[in-house]
Amino acid sequence: MKKLLIATNNKGKVEELQDLLKDTGIQFVTPAQINLALEVEENGTTYAENAGKKAIAFAQASGLISLADDSGLEVEALNGAPGLYSARYSPKPGAKDADRRAFLLENLAGKPRPWKAHFHATIAIAIPSGEVEFAEGNCYGEIIPEERGTSGFGYDPIFLMEGLARTMAELEMDEKNRLSHRARAVMNAMPILRKMFGV
Ligand code: IMP
Repeated sequence: MKKLLIATNNKGKVEELQDLLKDTGIQFVTPAQINLALEVEENGTTYAENAGKKAIAFAQASGLISLADDSGLEVEALNGAPGLYSARYSPKPGAKDADRRAFLLENLAGKPRPWKAHFHATIAIAIPSGEVEFAEGNCYGEIIPEERGTSGFGYDPIFLMEGLARTMAELEMDEKNRLSHRARAVMNAMPILRKMFGV
């Protein structure tokens, strides 16, 4: 069976997807594993535009069915920021995840709590001819001012899950893989993948 190309080398995302796809019989490869180095500029104005552009570029470059995601954190008190710009949300050159979390908390300081927020993920699955299909997922919660937990990445340590007394960084991997925005998007994408792979 043809393999699915996951259009990311982000270790956190690869691990999540590995776990999510393990019972499907669908095997996947990363760009690094097939020596494909492709930079796709994420300059779209929607998650779908960015994910679709990435999925199509990787499918056309590899000849494989390709899955790309675009995701972000939307905070109500900041009118949905950082949103599409979550990965670049800091004025500091060379900023890391911790700098972005600090910048977010600076921008929320003084605003009344709870700081309601949700993560959003859009997944695009493209075939080499350029056809693309989409699925989405959300995960709701609130931003808290102190970091808790050490797993995951990005804004996980300051994102308190709705209905759980834990942050996303305090979840076991299999819990995050059931509850996260990306997990929900992958689950919603399963019918598309099953159709494309005939499984
Ligand atoms: P992209 O989808 O790779 O463009 O990245 C979106 C950005 O949103 C990431 O760099 C993180 O800052 C944030 N983000 C997306 N998903 C998660 C998650 O599961 N946990 C924490 N932060 C996330």
